[in-house]
Amino acid sequence: MDIKFVKAKTLKEKPDQSNLPFGRIFTDYMFTMDYDPENGWHNATIEPYGPISLDPSACVFHYAQEVFEGTKAYKTPDGHVQLFRPQENFARLNRSAKRLCIPPIDEDFALEALKQLVEIEKDWIPTAPGTSLYIRPFIFATENYIGVHVSSTYKFFIILCPVGSYYEDGLKPAVMHIEQVYARTVAGGTGEAKCGGNYAGSLAATEKANEEGYEETLWLDGATRKNIEEVGSCNIMFKIDGKFVTPKLTGTILPGITRKSIIQLLKSWGETVEERVLPIQELLDDYHAGKVEEVFGMGTAAVVAPIGKLNYAGEDMVFNNDEIGPSAQKIYDTLVGIQHGTVEDPFNWVVKVC
Ligand SMILES: *Cc1c(COP(=O)(O)O)cnc(C)c1O
Repeated sequence: MDIKFVKAKTLKEKPDQSNLPFGRIFTDYMFTMDYDPENGWHNATIEPYGPISLDPSACVFHYAQEVFEGTKAYKTPDGHVQLFRPQENFARLNRSAKRLCIPPIDEDFALEALKQLVEIEKDWIPTAPGTSLYIRPFIFATENYIGVHVSSTYKFFIILCPVGSYYEDGLKPAVMHIEQVYARTVAGGTGEAKCGGNYAGSLAATEKANEEGYEETLWLDGATRKNIEEVGSCNIMFKIDGKFVTPKLTGTILPGITRKSIIQLLKSWGETVEERVLPIQELLDDYHAGKVEEVFGMGTAAVVAPIGKLNYAGEDMVFNNDEIGPSAQKIYDTLVGIQHGTVEDPFNWVVKVC
């Protein structure tokens, strides 16, 4: 399939790189394509970024048939542009799509489209340390019918935003609240799909956590509320007694690409990594025994997000004196280095765009 190019009449002014907000500034172009049963995915176009028109009865507004992805493009010191494991994102997008009864995209074609879009927009990729071009692919249902059903038509988009370093003031640890009332998902639900609905359902818990002074919610399993799952925008890793422990993927946790990469990285350094069920009681016991060395989140936006405090049932657990630990720092430096092309990539994770 050829990708049609519609040239913008005027280009926007590039933002000040020293003060980039997350997710509010969009580049000049976006990629779009349409699906209908007769033509399959068709009408692939790179066109000026801008509003779209949809019928108010479009399925997505009523029943949330939508999936999305998040990845980044980076500029290397010698001016090349590269992506980090983008094939993983399109594979996961198709797994999420399958769960939501959305027709699959051609992953190779989507990667080709992404490369073309990023190359056109390469001047938008910021170069200051820790900055990048955030990439948001998403698919949603567009059929005009408010009966509950699988939509027959869809739109696929890729939009881009230049983003600053997640850590404007250095890697400052986050304060999180372990949720005991609300649940993010349960076995058989959509927890392992990256879909907007999961986020809509978790906003109330995060609002409550914010009101109480916590930045994020750490979720327990929805069925028993006994085992640690994830943060809801990133996965979580504990360093306990010299070993790394992360909740295993049981179907209710989003299989993060950062999580997967960090596990590979740690193993390549000879570290022990356990993917297993981690009961909150075990964490409390290990914490009181002084065995919990570090805790950090893992996700594309922050890469590594140190967690300084975790509140559970009224008790604050404080890790590594509320400072980033040496393991989190080393992982962050290595992964960010590989992504920006300043550290060698022995895993073949990086995909060059231009
Ligand atoms: C996207 C996401 C993550 C992190 O995945 P990455 O591929 O590492 O960015 C973790 N949990 C949830 C719920 C997510 O949506």
